[in-house]
Amino acid sequence: MKKLHLQTQLLHSDRLRGTEYAASHQPIHKSVQWGYARAQDIADTFQNKRSGFTYARGGNPTTAALEAQINALEDGIGTISFATGMSAISTVILALLKAGDHLVASQYLFGNTTSLFSTLAAHGISITYADVTDADKVKAAMQPNTRMVFLETIANPRTQVADLKGIGELCQHQGVLFVVDATMSTPALLRAKDYGASIVMNSLSKGLAGHGAALGGALTDTGLFDWSVYPNIFEGYRKGEAKNWGLLQLRKKGLRDIGGALSADSAQQIALGLETFFLRNERACQNAMTLANWLNAHPAVEKVDYPGLSEHPQHARASELFKGSYGTLLSFTVKDSVKHPFDVLDTLKIIMMSTHLGDNRTMALPVTQTIYAEMSAERRAEWGIADGLIRISVGIEQVDDLIDDLAQALA
Ligand SMILES: *Cc1c(COP(=O)(O)O)cnc(C)c1O
Repeated sequence: MKKLHLQTQLLHSDRLRGTEYAASHQPIHKSVQWGYARAQDIADTFQNKRSGFTYARGGNPTTAALEAQINALEDGIGTISFATGMSAISTVILALLKAGDHLVASQYLFGNTTSLFSTLAAHGISITYADVTDADKVKAAMQPNTRMVFLETIANPRTQVADLKGIGELCQHQGVLFVVDATMSTPALLRAKDYGASIVMNSLSKGLAGHGAALGGALTDTGLFDWSVYPNIFEGYRKGEAKNWGLLQLRKKGLRDIGGALSADSAQQIALGLETFFLRNERACQNAMTLANWLNAHPAVEKVDYPGLSEHPQHARASELFKGSYGTLLSFTVKDSVKHPFDVLDTLKIIMMSTHLGDNRTMALPVTQTIYAEMSAERRAEWGIADGLIRISVGIEQVDDLIDDLAQALA
């Protein structure tokens, strides 16, 4: 059969992979343990000679069905799900780096990721932050002991777009793991594998699910990285084909030992959201473009950050990478002389004041005083985060209602 389009795969993958009674959805498997009739079978399962479930911390049929869907979206050789996106990020670092290793990270990272990385520094992993909009800056940050580059495709809140092509080529040339947090671009805008990503991280709590009713995260191995030359693979996992070593270590040392397992209930909720992901994303991206243009023309607005605007510093790159849409995140500042940003936010009626991203509902947030409140003023200034910055995660409402709401708040 001809390879199905991703939208079609998402809708039919459970049934076509085989569910009881040809049910359309993979059931929610609540068992913590699985019984075996033969000792040899349970032994072989533990020794990775046979596939199967043993204990739910390492996965269950419901999470496996979701993993297959994410894997198809990212065109990977395997995907592992986690309880949250942060759990996926901490696992990729803890399972694959060790004390003495060096990490080059984007200077424009999700706040909790930056906070996690500062914890890692205390565990002996040294980190250099670099401006990932320029591959040369990343190259300059590399050291002989650099093992990994970690970045986000579109940064939050100021929407800088990483030089994925340049950095992907650099990592490939240097034999360095390239870990891409693709949460903000989503597989609808871009496939990170096409730009050399070794591992793709997705928070499943955001646009992929859309409903904001479940947390989750995933790591996908794209199959591009040569694990046979990676020094941090434990001896016990250096068996069989080298292409599977990374996933094996991530599933055993990562998911199993660190223990951030996704629940079957959440896995099914996320899978339900995924069914409509492409449709919702298209609508939300259109709404975001309309709002960005509208805000940009508003006399009370100082500046709008959105990759779809021609004056955005990486607009040309975004057009090349994202195939016609520019994501669902934008931020803007209000002119000081006009209104305090808190007064604008307090006047919103439909747009929800909330910290989430990629939700079906549009959300607004004052950035400096919330998600960047733990960061020093100097660092915020370096990263271009103004005190009055308002972030908007654009949803799928009828856009006229959003414009009306912003119009009355800015009046
Ligand atoms: C939300 C988010 C995360 C963390 O995901 P959780 O599921 O909330 O733990 C990581 N990276 C980016 C870019 C995010 O937006």
